[in-house]
Amino acid sequence: MTSYESGGNRLSGIAGRPAATAWPGGILQVRVPLPFSLKWVNSYLLRDERGYVLIDPGLHTDEAVAAWKGVMDEHAIGFQDIHTIMLTHQHPDHYGLAGWFQERSGAPVYISAESYAYTQRLWGDDGGAAFAADLTALYTQHGMPSQVVAALGPHLDSFIAKVSPQPQVQFIEAGQTVRMAETDWQLIDAPGHAGGQLCFYAPDKRWMICGDQVLPTITPNISAVPGEDDRQLKRFLLSLRELACYEVELAFPGHREPFERFGERAAELAAHHERRLESIVLMLRESPGSAYSVCMRLFGERIAGDAHHMRFAMSETLAHIYDLEHKGLLARRLQEDGITYVA
Ligand SMILES: [Zn+2]
Repeated sequence: MTSYESGGNRLSGIAGRPAATAWPGGILQVRVPLPFSLKWVNSYLLRDERGYVLIDPGLHTDEAVAAWKGVMDEHAIGFQDIHTIMLTHQHPDHYGLAGWFQERSGAPVYISAESYAYTQRLWGDDGGAAFAADLTALYTQHGMPSQVVAALGPHLDSFIAKVSPQPQVQFIEAGQTVRMAETDWQLIDAPGHAGGQLCFYAPDKRWMICGDQVLPTITPNISAVPGEDDRQLKRFLLSLRELACYEVELAFPGHREPFERFGERAAELAAHHERRLESIVLMLRESPGSAYSVCMRLFGERIAGDAHHMRFAMSETLAHIYDLEHKGLLARRLQEDGITYVA
């Protein structure tokens, strides 16, 4: 895999890595810092004769804005050079700066309709109040203690500033082809991690911009959330199988570094979830319990006291439990204090 650093090779402050890496074909990878253990999100600037398409600009924090200013100065990119903004999906670490860039560049922002609907449930007119109420009710029903649930509302609210100002959007959908970096890219529906997520595939180059669907050294979060169907894990696994059929020489993920062996990585992720399903069955066979008890047995100390990780862990656990319920491998028992599961 070849990459080359360009310009002054300014460091990002993220694990000694450069703030940006130029890849052949006019793709600039920008590491935009995140205040989470994920460390950074990858934004991509795809150059053409009109300027740049900006993909997934990052979360709106002071650190992210400072990083962007540094990269744009170093590469002599002005806001007016950005003619289009594309979003793979709605998560705040990808969507958060879209409106900020739109205000400065005037560029249209493209996202799938399903992804956009989710942003409005979380950060729309009611400030996410209905979503937060539904989420806390769901977690309570599945055994999460009240003091743990209580931290979730303020945590969810804390994202509103990090996705503001919000963009005016236009919709794109799977099956369309878009032109970026003088290359045609096919839009592929990639659900499971985020409903409505799109991957971008360039058949001529065998490149895949894959959002968070396939990540090289970490596993994408699969979340069951209220108001969506309970087949997120199944949809994710089906999507991995479909994506693995594409010939990919280089994948550009939302986190960590661009990588080869895309199909193998998709298979590894599928195997990871199969193992997790098996371990949940074994746990509940040994001792029945709530989804929260399974969550703590799976993730334990790693997430205690951290609302951000707790939410991912709990929804990930639920996505697996729902899958096992659908397969008839678990049964739910409705008790006075909530739902418990037996295998
Ligand atoms: Zn994501």
